[in-house]
Amino acid sequence: MKKRVLVIIAIVIAVILTAGFYLWDGYEGRQLEMPDSYQAILDRGYLIAGVKTDTKPFGFKDKDGKLTGLDIDIAKAIAKAIFRNENRLKLVSVTPSDRLIKLTTGEVDIVIATMTVTPQRMDLIDFSHSYFIAGQTLLVPQKSKITSLADLAGEDVGVIFGTTAEKNLRTLVPTAKVLGYRTYDEAYEALKNGTIKAITSDDTILRNYALNDKSVKMLNKRYSKEPYAVGVRKGKENKMLLERVNFVIKTLIVNNSINRLYAKWGLR
Ligand code: GLU
Repeated sequence: MKKRVLVIIAIVIAVILTAGFYLWDGYEGRQLEMPDSYQAILDRGYLIAGVKTDTKPFGFKDKDGKLTGLDIDIAKAIAKAIFRNENRLKLVSVTPSDRLIKLTTGEVDIVIATMTVTPQRMDLIDFSHSYFIAGQTLLVPQKSKITSLADLAGEDVGVIFGTTAEKNLRTLVPTAKVLGYRTYDEAYEALKNGTIKAITSDDTILRNYALNDKSVKMLNKRYSKEPYAVGVRKGKENKMLLERVNFVIKTLIVNNSINRLYAKWGLR
C-alpha cells in the first residue's frame, strides 16, 4: 500500500515537471519566434531612418533639395555598417512631436533627429550612446533687452512642440506665454514679425539663425545639457539593431571620425 502511494506521488511529480518543461519551452519558443528587427531590415534591403528636414546642420535640405547634415551622415554610417552600402537607406521626415510615434509604430527603424535622451523618453524607447551634446538657450532680436530665462516672465515665447525646451520653459518660467510651432522656420518667422519675443531651443539649432541674420542674436547662457542619441524601439527583438547602432557610434568616436563630422558641419 505504502509503495503504491509512493509510486503515485512519483508519477504526479513527473507529470508536473514534464508539463512545466513543455510550458517553459513553449514560452522560450514564442520569444525566439518574435521577428528580429535587424533581420527584418536585412530582408527588406534597406534601413528606414526618421530624420529632421528643417534643422540645420543636423537634418535639412541643401540647395538641390537633397537631405543632408550630421544626423544624415550618421544614418548613412549605420546603413553602411549593415549593408556595406550607405545608400541602402530611406529617410523619413520626423518632427519633435511625431518622432516617438513614428518609431514605436514601426514607420521607421531608428530615429536620428537631434533627439535628447531624457528619462521620460527612456520609458518609451531605447537610446544609443550619445553622439553630441547641445544646451538649451534663447534666440532674441538683436535689440532685445532679454538676457536670461527670467526675463521671459509674462512674455510671448516660441517653442517647437514636443521639445525638451518646451517642457523646461513651462517648468522654469511658468508665467511665460508659450506659443508652440511645428517647425523652426515657423518660429523664426514669428520672431521676425514680432509675434514672439524669443525662441527657446538647442544652441546648435538656434546658432544657424544667428549666423545668417544679424538682426537676431543667441544668448551665451545655457540652461540644460542635451545629449543627442539614436532612438530604437524597446524589446528583445530590437537588441541586435541597438548593438549595431552603438557599434557604429563607438567606432565614429574611437577613430575620431565624429570630430571630422563636427568640423564638416561647423559644430566645433
Ligand atoms: N534636442 C531637443 C529635443 O530632443 C530639441 C531639438 C529638436 O529636436 O528640435 O527635444
